[in-house]
Amino acid sequence: MNPTGYAQLDELLARLAGIASLDESALEAEHTAILGRKAGALTEASKQIPTLPPEERRGFGAAVNQVKAAFEQAFTARRAELAEESRRRALAGVDLTMPARHRWIGSAHPVTTVIDEITEIFRGLGFVVAVGPEVETEWYNFHALNFPANHPAMDMHDTLYVDATPVPGDRGGRQLLRTHTSPVQIRELLTHEPPVRAIIPGMSYRNDPFDPSHAPAFHQIEGLAVDEGISFVDLKATLVHFARRFFGETTRTRFRPSYFPFTEPSAEMDVECQLCHGSGCPACKGTGWMEILGCGMVHPAVLANCDVDAERYTGFAFGMGPARITMLRYGVTDIRYMYEGDMRFLGSLR
Ligand SMILES: [Zn+2]
Repeated sequence: MNPTGYAQLDELLARLAGIASLDESALEAEHTAILGRKAGALTEASKQIPTLPPEERRGFGAAVNQVKAAFEQAFTARRAELAEESRRRALAGVDLTMPARHRWIGSAHPVTTVIDEITEIFRGLGFVVAVGPEVETEWYNFHALNFPANHPAMDMHDTLYVDATPVPGDRGGRQLLRTHTSPVQIRELLTHEPPVRAIIPGMSYRNDPFDPSHAPAFHQIEGLAVDEGISFVDLKATLVHFARRFFGETTRTRFRPSYFPFTEPSAEMDVECQLCHGSGCPACKGTGWMEILGCGMVHPAVLANCDVDAERYTGFAFGMGPARITMLRYGVTDIRYMYEGDMRFLGSLR
């Protein structure tokens, strides 16, 4: 029996009870002092085992192990206690019965969703998506589209000019924010041999007040089909197909004669009012119809301006305002709601 060894173990055991009241840093220091692999007191004690007479080794070894187990248990218990205390401190003052805040889930803007739906329907008919610059010259925005030189739309009141210095050249003129997506039709015809089938979404800008039915910056989506033998029948069939896909299979449509410089003949297409289904309501001003787009056969002068042989090729074009169509779908009467970014309103349209 080695009295020194057992006396050491007794001294250590005297420290066992103290562990239960140590704070975190003191606990870890004590752990190192007693169980540390390099210089821990118990490690030192166990180093004595091989030096003992053989008959004493087993007894002392077992004693060391018992003390070691007792300390390990005490350390584990105190660590768990401290973790629990720290968790309680973190929760102090937190009302666990308060409802959780909902996680924010984003989604596409309703107008973007409508643009995607419209684009998808025309893609199914073989149209490809085309885009172009938002700053254009007068030639692309007006002249190529057969606007007469003195057309009122070119007035400062309607068009936002960004640079008064004219761009030189046949296709130049003053620089402006495009007032419609139609210049992309010109760019498509100038760069692609017919057949051309393009669907053109994008922003347009006009010097308009921001009121219930106008926005100075607004979305447009236009379509263009140019090929040999295209007639008004193709125009009508395509647009009626679109209206039925978008608004529903039984949706009625009608075409009214209209005028645009870039199409001849021209028409506006109405769909039956989505709110009253034709019986008449304040939204459709009692008519039962809602105008959704303008369309027509591409004017031969426009084809000629794009170096397309107007004797060989014909085509149709159409344009609509996706924000307006979104308003029709949801029965919204003020276009400003579409562009103000008020999440309470936009969330209600989902
Ligand atoms: Zn109605």
